Amino acid sequence: MPRPIRLDLSFSALEHNLQEVIRRLEAGRRSDAGLRPPASRPPVSRPHIWGVVKANAYGHGLELAVGALAAADGLAMLDLEEAVRARQAGWQGPIMLLEGFFQPQDIAVLRRHGLSAVIHCSEQLDMLEQSEPGPALDAWVKLNVGMNRLGFAPSAYVAAWDRARALHARGVLATVGRMSHFSRADDDDVVTAAQRQCFLDVTRGLDGPVSICNSAATLNDVWHDAALGDSQWVRPGVCLYGGSPFATRSAAGLGLRPVQTLHSQLLAVHDLAAGAPVGYGHQFVAPQAMRVGIVACGYADGYPRHAPNGTPVTVAGVRTRLLGRVSMDMLAVDLDPVPTAAAGAPVVLWGEGGPSVDEVARAADTIGYELMCAVAPRVPRREVK
Ligand SMILES: *Cc1c(COP(=O)(O)O)cnc(C)c1O
Repeated sequence: MPRPIRLDLSFSALEHNLQEVIRRLEAGRRSDAGLRPPASRPPVSRPHIWGVVKANAYGHGLELAVGALAAADGLAMLDLEEAVRARQAGWQGPIMLLEGFFQPQDIAVLRRHGLSAVIHCSEQLDMLEQSEPGPALDAWVKLNVGMNRLGFAPSAYVAAWDRARALHARGVLATVGRMSHFSRADDDDVVTAAQRQCFLDVTRGLDGPVSICNSAATLNDVWHDAALGDSQWVRPGVCLYGGSPFATRSAAGLGLRPVQTLHSQLLAVHDLAAGAPVGYGHQFVAPQAMRVGIVACGYADGYPRHAPNGTPVTVAGVRTRLLGRVSMDMLAVDLDPVPTAAAGAPVVLWGEGGPSVDEVARAADTIGYELMCAVAPRVPRREVK
């Protein structure tokens, strides 16, 4: 028998979370909500949605996402091979490559599979200008509004835009859109409003669709401004998988359901005397007589090694806590709240019926995104409808 660890992936939760984003966009369009300042007027139509499926759909599997995100308007990712996989899985809609292309020979792959490219640097424009004739590509010219990761500086943007428009006139590019990415949409509305204003100031008078909002900006209605035009595309990622982009708002509170659930079982139970240590380094010592359980899950499965004593975990439906240092293949839990639990008892490390991935991440001083992406390949996956 294989080790009793398993990652369940819920197709219906992924569908639900996309519908929840659609519902919020529809509701937002009808209200005067939105990032303040400034008070905003709603755009005429709700934004289109790029479902972000980079990193193998945040660890959930690209093929699962292609099926469950059928109601999205497009998919966004960054690996050319993943884009080809999405086509092979049957995705016929738009695909946005968030880092564009990397070398001249990639352009032929983009044309063959009808992929849209983010253009973030002048080298990419050089490659397009020097490319052989072929079918026109959709492109999104990226503005750097302050993250200083990818994108043209505000002072260089219009010149890049003009080169992209010239490529459009030559038939190398089809639609040319405007794109950016916020650095603090999850935690600072003032910075985000200033970054949005920078986008509006720099791209004023340029036409083409707009794509600026990740999950946090989408859920905070940052798209909600008629000045951004009526062809917007939001780019939610983590919220589709049931993670919260915010440190202080839970995914459940946002109406999201976990897509991944990491299950395991107790391998063993021990009665400890007061003073007995648990695990490597004796980082937990029993303050009184107590029972502990040993769970088949460790850092080689993707559980964070830095999770401290007290990190939440659910055993037989009862919430309890991690004890001692996480080892490669096992971790220990407090069984005092579940005195009847024996070897074989079910354990949920995170997800449906257990703590949220964000709670475990917070305890381990990271974010749910990292844990979702890091479940190890050795953990068997099972799709649940
Ligand atoms: C990852 C990413 C997103 C999605 O971010 P979430 O916080 O997961 O919603 C959107 N846009 C870009 C450019 C990204 O890299």
